[in-house]
Amino acid sequence: MSGFSKSPWIIHYDASSCNGCDIEVLACLTPIFDVERLGVVNTGNPKHADIFLVTGAVNEQSRDVIRNIYNQMPEPKVVVAVGTCAASGGIFRECYNISGGVDSVIPVDVYVPGCAARPEAIVDGVVQALGVLEQKHRDMKAAPHNTDQTLYLRAEKSDAPGILGLQKTAGQCEAEIYNNDNLPALQQTLDELQNDFDRAIYIKAVINDKIIGSVRGQVRDDTAYVSGVVVHPYYQHNKIGRRLVEEIEKSFPSAKRFEAFTGRPNVRGLQLLGQAGYSEFKTEPFTPAIVWVYLQKERK
Ligand code: SF4
Repeated sequence: MSGFSKSPWIIHYDASSCNGCDIEVLACLTPIFDVERLGVVNTGNPKHADIFLVTGAVNEQSRDVIRNIYNQMPEPKVVVAVGTCAASGGIFRECYNISGGVDSVIPVDVYVPGCAARPEAIVDGVVQALGVLEQKHRDMKAAPHNTDQTLYLRAEKSDAPGILGLQKTAGQCEAEIYNNDNLPALQQTLDELQNDFDRAIYIKAVINDKIIGSVRGQVRDDTAYVSGVVVHPYYQHNKIGRRLVEEIEKSFPSAKRFEAFTGRPNVRGLQLLGQAGYSEFKTEPFTPAIVWVYLQKERK
């Protein structure tokens, strides 16, 4: 166990809980459980935190706060959803103002069940989170050294949860660039992604059995449509995105033309496709601040 996971700093946020789970979180700090004796520190500053503990379901007001706290936390970081509401929306799921569990906004690493979640379960969830934190720390340190071991393989339907998790993790950077939480990749559900495998081909980039990048492709007539290039933030700037585009193009040997799209102001997406030989031919407004840019290239 490395030094920082011996004394994890936790930030707790109540997204819209009934207060039941929050009381149980506080119980973890009382003399019976006293997690501080194990080195756990409850901090109010996201910039000092390793673990983000969220209680309650997500509503329109808490959505931006959750993303704001998450984005301020340094890497590596772990998210723990405490209680049924944080996991899925719970009894508030069908309410007009609830958008779901915490994973409807940010990627969640550990789910603690219960209504309310018991203090023992919360402590257990934090212990699990420490394991995840350690693994992320190892991955982060190894990332610059092992990109030459990347395998590019055709993804199967069973890879959908891994790809969805990657989309949500990498999508946080995109949401920041576009200043928009409603990007299609962030809204996609597991069912939608699994069903998409019936129409499209996915290529995954894998290191040590972990999916660290993916891209989607679909052919119609003579054109192959390339979309959804995502690379885990630890592995960006290593030409993995470019290689994913090359690999998906190889999956459509009969295509005479390739079409891809990204958006302004995502300069990196435009650069990636430009380096892969694509040039802009059409734009389409998505919101007043975002313009979808369509690019194409002919097969040489
Ligand atoms: S899971 Fe139960 S106790 Fe916890 S916030 Fe939801 S309703 Fe309240």
